[in-house]
Amino acid sequence: MTAQANTKPRGRQFFNNPGPTNIPDRILRAMDRPVVDFLAPEFLEIQRSCFAGLKRVMKTDGEIFVHASTGHGAWEAAVANVFSPGDLVLIIESGHFSNGWQEMGEALGLKVEMLKADWRKGVDFESLNKRLADDKNHEIKGVFTVHNETATGMMLPLAEVRRALDATKHPAMLLSDTISSLVSMDYKMDAWGVDVTVAGSQKGLMMPTGLAITGVSKKAMEASRHSKMPKYYFNWALMAARMPQKFIGTVPVHQFFGLHESLKMIDEEGLDAIFARHNRLAEATRECVRAWSKDGKGPTLYGQTKERLSDSVTTIMMPEGHTSDAMRKIALERFNLSLGGGLGPLSGKVFRIGHLGDLNEPMLLGCLATTELAMKVAGVPFASGGVDAAIKSLAS
Ligand code: PLP
Repeated sequence: MTAQANTKPRGRQFFNNPGPTNIPDRILRAMDRPVVDFLAPEFLEIQRSCFAGLKRVMKTDGEIFVHASTGHGAWEAAVANVFSPGDLVLIIESGHFSNGWQEMGEALGLKVEMLKADWRKGVDFESLNKRLADDKNHEIKGVFTVHNETATGMMLPLAEVRRALDATKHPAMLLSDTISSLVSMDYKMDAWGVDVTVAGSQKGLMMPTGLAITGVSKKAMEASRHSKMPKYYFNWALMAARMPQKFIGTVPVHQFFGLHESLKMIDEEGLDAIFARHNRLAEATRECVRAWSKDGKGPTLYGQTKERLSDSVTTIMMPEGHTSDAMRKIALERFNLSLGGGLGPLSGKVFRIGHLGDLNEPMLLGCLATTELAMKVAGVPFASGGVDAAIKSLAS
């Protein structure tokens, strides 16, 4: 008998997408258990502890609502509970995901104005100040922000957005999408005066996809009592009345088992240590890319504003004449490394390295070295010394 060639790559996949992210074995094991009644006291205690943990990671005393949905559900819940059809909202443009929220807002009947921004540099706060100051009659009811734009790898300084609202004494609600920043980069919902925080389970929380999480301030809760947007499953008031489970429909108990373990792991490591780890891994990735491009021919950092580069994802621009998808295909099919692709207009032009969630130095170095290998096979030019630069950064 002749042995058949096995073309399936061996070993564990290196997974560096910016979401979903690696799920730690501890979380998988915590979910691997028999079902329980969601009204059983044992489960209600797990759920209560999850809500308390989510408040800790969002740094809020506000309300928490959890839906069985992807992050899109949290976007929809935020729009449907706080606003009424015809309300004007201002969205700070950041990239693919700010534009997705715009599309949803319009579909639900909001009047949406985009505050234009260069995707590579991020918004210019002068233009935000001016637009808010010009809105003398306070027609703008909400300012939507994406704290970390997963498509471009750029972070939006939310304290600056709060400052602009305060400086102009503008009463608009502040909404923030933290889907790719929560538990990876510092986020202070109450200190920054954010009224609605939108999050998902599959990134910094290291969980399977499927929980949409919203943090809601008192002001937003109050607004939800007057909102005329049709809603049922996403209705916060209805959920709040469904005690003790605070949930509409069957509670996904296994997702809560996983979330409970995730929050335990987060408490053990500590939020500040988690942010420092993300910053270390991000800085090493950036140093690697800077080395690749030092002769002017290799891939470059997409983001151009140094202090706004994301600690959870790095977006990397391909050199002229090379598509990221060909290189990513080689990385995945030959070397079992999964990298993120470009989204929307950046499709094929960039690739993304996710360095968030359950990740350490060897995993990142494996990813960077294998990206070099895939680039070499794909014929993508790059200067040598990228991995060395990452090692130097990590060792310092
Ligand atoms: N917002 C941001 C910043 C994201 O990164 C994503 C997904 O990657 C979403 C919204 C949409 O979330 P979901 O895919 O869970 O619906």
